[in-house]
Amino acid sequence: MDSKPHVNTDPRRGIPSVHRLADQVCSHLSEISPWAATEGARRVVERARAGLSEGIPVEKCLADSNQAWVERAAAEARNLSQARPRRVVNATGVVLHTNLGRARMAAGAAQAAAEAAAEYSDLELDLESGERGDRLQGVGDRLSLLSGAESAFVCNNCAAAVLLALNTLAAGREVIVSRGELVEIGGSFRVPEIMQRAGVRLVEVGSTNRTHPGDYEEAIGPETALLLKVHRSNFEVRGFVAEVGLGALVQIGARHGVPVMEDLGSASLVDLGPQGFPEESYAPSRLALSPDLVCFSGDKLMGGPQAGLVLGRSEVVEAMRSNPLARALRADKMTLAALDWTLCALLEGRGPEELPLLRQLLASPDSIERRARALWAKLVEGIPTAAASVRVQSERVPVGGGSLPGFELESWAIVICAECGSEALASRLRLAPVPVVARVRADAVWIDLRTVEPGEESIVYAALTAAFH
Ligand SMILES: *Cc1c(COP(=O)(O)O)cnc(C)c1O
Repeated sequence: MDSKPHVNTDPRRGIPSVHRLADQVCSHLSEISPWAATEGARRVVERARAGLSEGIPVEKCLADSNQAWVERAAAEARNLSQARPRRVVNATGVVLHTNLGRARMAAGAAQAAAEAAAEYSDLELDLESGERGDRLQGVGDRLSLLSGAESAFVCNNCAAAVLLALNTLAAGREVIVSRGELVEIGGSFRVPEIMQRAGVRLVEVGSTNRTHPGDYEEAIGPETALLLKVHRSNFEVRGFVAEVGLGALVQIGARHGVPVMEDLGSASLVDLGPQGFPEESYAPSRLALSPDLVCFSGDKLMGGPQAGLVLGRSEVVEAMRSNPLARALRADKMTLAALDWTLCALLEGRGPEELPLLRQLLASPDSIERRARALWAKLVEGIPTAAASVRVQSERVPVGGGSLPGFELESWAIVICAECGSEALASRLRLAPVPVVARVRADAVWIDLRTVEPGEESIVYAALTAAFH
């Protein structure tokens, strides 16, 4: 016999209503717009309900005051209101950082893209005749001039270019690839899978470490439509190895009347060989070996917008253009405008000064060291000595982004050993008003100046000093 009066102790009663919470967020914080306040409140309420039903302790699920509920919802709302992707400072020294959007393009290229987007253009109109024009005429001509290729096509990205090329050249037929080149690029782009999606049959030859000319020769048959070479963008094979170079593959193809294509992944239209970069990264030197087609990204080592540049024989490029899939995979007008600007800069020899990617790749270790020491001198004034020790140190950094595996650049970093711990410091830097992304290594935070433009040093300084106050 329970004689106590009934008290409703259901902890769910401690959760505010979405409506009321959203109204409070809006009335306290005018900068938060109603959609974000409502969604932020909904998420906070939903999380509290879910937590309770999963048996998470009540005091963890419920905020302990009205103010605390409003703060929770406001934090969620602010997060929802952030631009995505959001600008960050890349202090990793890795020029092509996939998580940070790979290459930056020049301000002029970005401006060209913005104009193409905001204005009408002659994208597909020939202004002289008034007839329909070719959207690729401009960049096609410039790409041919820079590379020596007969003809060019531009896709959305290099993955799209590979897909379109395979489907055009070999749908329903066989494509021969070395087992040492059946690579996964990242973002689940795997050569065997993309081939399947392109509707071609993969014929593997050789072994992981060694493939010989005879392996290709033996595999060629009446169903063979293409010999494909794929650049190992993100790994190296060392030791007992052998591969068939592009030149030799072209000869085999010619003997059997089979086209040859190379997925370079990344390539430059400026010869970086004299600066110590691997020779095979210069697109014109690959095209000089006379493959039917090469494709590579417009950003990786090119310094333009992300795009899939396809260069090669006119007949093959023409066939790709008239493939119905081309409409789904071709580059849009903003990409074309940015690419066109980039190619003009390269034709005029302004690439190394104007393209941030080339500037960063070619920056001398001395110039980076000077900048690191200058910023260090300011930081030792701004950071309390008890909070951290700060020094300048040389390091070697990869180029990144699936470009030149095993190839490293000498660079200079400001190295900070913080009392609060390096993960905590790195996190504070990421949460700064303009997030600064640094590397944590050997229990220290490394700020590499190779990827920090001079105009961004003040942002790094502000984030670092704020992190210690
Ligand atoms: C990076 C890369 C790709 C994909 O290029 P995206 O522009 O990212 O689509 C394809 N193939 C190779 C060999 C690559 O290195």
